[in-house]
Amino acid sequence: MTLKKTDKIWHNGKLINWDEANIHVVAHVVSYGSAVFEGIRCYKTPQGPAVFRLREHMERLRNSAHIYRMDYAYSIEETCQAALELIRANHMDACYIRPIVLRGYGDAGVNPYNCPIEVYMACWDWGRYLGEEAIRNGVDVCVSSWNRSAPNTLPQMSKAAANYMNSQLIRMEAMANGYVEGIALDVNGYVSEGSGENVFVVHHGKVFTPPLANCVLPGITRDTMMEICNDMGIAVAEQMIPREMLYIADEVFFAGTAVEITPVRSIDRVKVGNGARGPITKQLQDEFYALVGGVKEDRRGWLTPVHAGVTAPVGVR
Ligand code: PMP
Repeated sequence: MTLKKTDKIWHNGKLINWDEANIHVVAHVVSYGSAVFEGIRCYKTPQGPAVFRLREHMERLRNSAHIYRMDYAYSIEETCQAALELIRANHMDACYIRPIVLRGYGDAGVNPYNCPIEVYMACWDWGRYLGEEAIRNGVDVCVSSWNRSAPNTLPQMSKAAANYMNSQLIRMEAMANGYVEGIALDVNGYVSEGSGENVFVVHHGKVFTPPLANCVLPGITRDTMMEICNDMGIAVAEQMIPREMLYIADEVFFAGTAVEITPVRSIDRVKVGNGARGPITKQLQDEFYALVGGVKEDRRGWLTPVHAGVTAPVGVR
């Protein structure tokens, strides 16, 4: 057991004990994967703990649920406040936050409408997803033999639990073959994304990432990267990426809440660039960590202080 449990979990508006946050084995979600969720990070900053792009994550949660006709009772603002309350209740300085909206116990068939919608939120301490070394030196990955789900099958703009059965196939295959992670192609053979992160390619000084139509999750770190590139005067575009571009790219990196910004140093044992973290990746990482760490001016109000009113605002707003 590597999950570090905390004291409290938020459930339908109330804080309950971690060990009491259980669901029935016959709940709809267990058989049919009917849940949508988020992964959010709270960072330690000089001004106290602050959550990165909280509102955008809660908006995506609502959208994910809406696609599956799971309209729950809490507003975006209420779910943001719930996350902050939860972090305070667990006395966390930095943590990963996991809100989940699921279809619970009520009926056994595929029709979900007789099963109540439950909203839970947990948080825990979760350090570097792929390890500290990965952030500096990069990871060795493969192109997966599994594709992302085709359009009009499992909608990839919804961060739904069921999508992660596909992610697990990608990740397990990669690990079985000695790689850290797999990059999946879409149904037409274009680069899509990793099992839990978006992909960026640097080619001739320009930064590219696949558009949403290549079956990628609309990543919030992906969006952050594009904004940062624009700020820094680095050309960035959403563009379809043929598989072979991965092998001739100067740099490749992953972007996601869990992996943050992780360089990719080889793909299918082919070195990316000179096989180490590239200069643009390093520049973007430095900017990203300065922003999330609250040491850089937060011009866009991306950090929400956990102890609002108790501490000074994070950055200069
Ligand atoms: N793609 C997939 C499949 C993911 O699970 C994630 C993580 N949520 C991402 C991309 C990155 O999204 P974000 O930057 O919002 O965490």
